[in-house]
Amino acid sequence: MLDVLAIAAHPDDVEQTCGGTLLSMAEKGYRTGILDLTAGDMGTRGTPETRVAESQDAAKILLAQYRGNLHFPDARLENSMPGRMTLAARIRELKPRVLILPYWEGRHPDHYRTSEIGYEACFLAGLKKLDQYTEPHRPFKILYASIYANVQPSFVVDISAQFERRMSSLLAYRSQYGETKDGQDLFPDEAEIRERLAAIARFYGNLIGTKYGEPFVVKETMRVDDVVAMGVRSI
Ligand SMILES: [Zn+2]
Repeated sequence: MLDVLAIAAHPDDVEQTCGGTLLSMAEKGYRTGILDLTAGDMGTRGTPETRVAESQDAAKILLAQYRGNLHFPDARLENSMPGRMTLAARIRELKPRVLILPYWEGRHPDHYRTSEIGYEACFLAGLKKLDQYTEPHRPFKILYASIYANVQPSFVVDISAQFERRMSSLLAYRSQYGETKDGQDLFPDEAEIRERLAAIARFYGNLIGTKYGEPFVVKETMRVDDVVAMGVRSI
């Protein structure tokens, strides 16, 4: 059903880590989707209902054909068998060829746990005897969105044409990024967010000779069939 599915811990994660890539792929005609594991119920600002509603607005801006939320417990996400089974069932329904997960190390436990749960759910989803009601499915490729990981990316996607809309998709979370008094010292204002995200995207774009970019890590070696057509200037 989907060509690309991004799985993240919280609504608004994907908008910061791989939203430009999702948008770019949708513009190439691929069917893209987003699945958030939690609704951010421990967040200082907003309610889970508001955040899920805002995530649907953001998904429209990113031209995603699907956005779901599994409502797992926020800030205390566990890699449990029921969690993996629930996610495996959803992966079987959505049948993504490419799966985007958070990088496997990070400050927030929910992020690295999502990476682990996502990988292990893919494994389960491919087991024929898991259940008799759904077709087995395992994504062909797993990409790890590494924008906040400070590691050497395996590749960078040019998001120069998508950056502004990715920014709009993040600002669609008005409960998080609007002018609110709650947690004012915790949440940067819009100008600060814009500058920060632009600087990071600019850094990665610079690595491939474009304005803005989003980095990814893959665990497998990248295959090249045509060395003459390879991009990114060496000298
Ligand atoms: Zn998050």
